[in-house]
Amino acid sequence: MALHLLLPLSLSLICATSSQSIVQVTTSVDHKIRIDDNLYCDSWRFSVETNDAGLWQKIPSRCQMFVQDYMEGARYRSDLESVASFSLAFAKTIKIGPDGKDAWIFDIDETLLSNLPYYQLHGFGSETFDEASFNQWVDLAVAPALPASLNLYNQLKLLGFKVVLLTGRSEAQRNVTGKNLLYAGYRDWERLFLRGLSDKGKPATVYKSEKRQELVNKGYRIHGSSGDQWSDLMGFAIAERSFKLPNPMYYIA
Ligand SMILES: [Mg+2]
Repeated sequence: MALHLLLPLSLSLICATSSQSIVQVTTSVDHKIRIDDNLYCDSWRFSVETNDAGLWQKIPSRCQMFVQDYMEGARYRSDLESVASFSLAFAKTIKIGPDGKDAWIFDIDETLLSNLPYYQLHGFGSETFDEASFNQWVDLAVAPALPASLNLYNQLKLLGFKVVLLTGRSEAQRNVTGKNLLYAGYRDWERLFLRGLSDKGKPATVYKSEKRQELVNKGYRIHGSSGDQWSDLMGFAIAERSFKLPNPMYYIA
């Protein structure tokens, strides 16, 4: 076909498809159809939040700005409020017994406390996780509360739930973690589970399931569980309802 015939055809194809934001067809392995960054990253976020993506290491570099906008903008707060509101609606359907065994489990990082000030300095999940520098941040004990979670926490306590905290942080971080929780406004938790020596190396799902099983063995009824990772919520001895908070910055298997 002569070039002068091909050009108008190509242009008309681009015009016809640009309204759907499909601007370039590539042969990349993960995405045959290349779409604009916003649309691509929104779909990527859907796949990581639903766990369709499974294990992932870093956010795609083209999504750093998208994740930043999400985390710093109204959308993250709105999503958190939505999750908290569904959680509270469920909690209100539970008949609290007189034995003090009606429990709700919270994860800590990106569930009760926000490490956004740290991730703002570290590419919003686009950098390889550096445990040493993250632990230095944890030691400062100044992570703010996620407001929707603090409100849910307080409402659950008013309803009569025992709040249990279950974190992948280590026992060595118990004091700074307690200090940070108090600094952020959390009070009167029933238990705080951290990884002890015997939990070292266990996948998060196994470690957290074992701790939940401990609670069940002590007679607790785990009605609800809130976490930003699927590994907070899956496994065995799971809660009657699990509530996944958004976190497009990192994945913990
Ligand atoms: Mg977490």
